[in-house]
Amino acid sequence: MKTIAEGYTKVILEAENPGQIIMRFKDTASAYHAIKRATIAGKGAYANRISARLFGLLADAGVENHFIKLLSDNEQLCQKTDVLPLRVIVRNIAAGSIVRRFGIEEGTAFKTPVYEMNYKSAQLDDPFMNSHMAVAMGFVSYDEMEHISRLAHRVNEVLIKVFADCGINLIDFKLEFGRTADGRLIVADEISPDTCRLWDKMSGQRLDKDRFRRDMGDIIEAYREVWKRVCGESDENK
Ligand code: 5GP
Repeated sequence: MKTIAEGYTKVILEAENPGQIIMRFKDTASAYHAIKRATIAGKGAYANRISARLFGLLADAGVENHFIKLLSDNEQLCQKTDVLPLRVIVRNIAAGSIVRRFGIEEGTAFKTPVYEMNYKSAQLDDPFMNSHMAVAMGFVSYDEMEHISRLAHRVNEVLIKVFADCGINLIDFKLEFGRTADGRLIVADEISPDTCRLWDKMSGQRLDKDRFRRDMGDIIEAYREVWKRVCGESDENK
């Protein structure tokens, strides 16, 4: 299988069908634009399975996305798309960079979700961008920007409920979008503890990549806990 692209945490491989790709999740953890890196045995499999389950639930809720099926512990088959060079961040509760940038106390609940967008560029430190810039730079049209906003809003609604049902507060998360061969924008990439902040409802325990970013330890235990609660009985292969 030919490699199409390789990042810090995933490899994108060609699939038999040219309209599809295989995403292989690695056991690497990376933060702060890969200044901090580590290998964490088993992380790739948990991220793969959690992401597969969440994308499946999003599809059930009518949110079109690139996921097709799980192939193995570390691999999933996805629709091939042209991924936009931007990230949408959705925040329900203040944590991470918004705390530093705006001086908001960590744990403050927002009255309505905060939607942010940034331009994917490690060299430029992922600068903030707004919808006018995304249109001006030729990435999307205003209609597509509206579609992205609606998708982000709906994903948040669905995921808040999925996580709440398993005793987890969805603090924030990152979304990526891909353009299909026939021009539609759909949700792409990954949704897992690598791309979300997830706090246990009862204890407030961090169940996400912050355990790695902040040297809190027990990273794989946290990912396993999310996998157990989100995938549970439905994950027959593990
Ligand atoms: P923050 O802006 O607070 O660093 O991140 C907000 C949310 O988006 C967090 O859940 C974080 O994990 C996710 N996020 C933001 N940028 C990235 C990124 O480049 N890679 C990954 N995996 N997640 C990101």
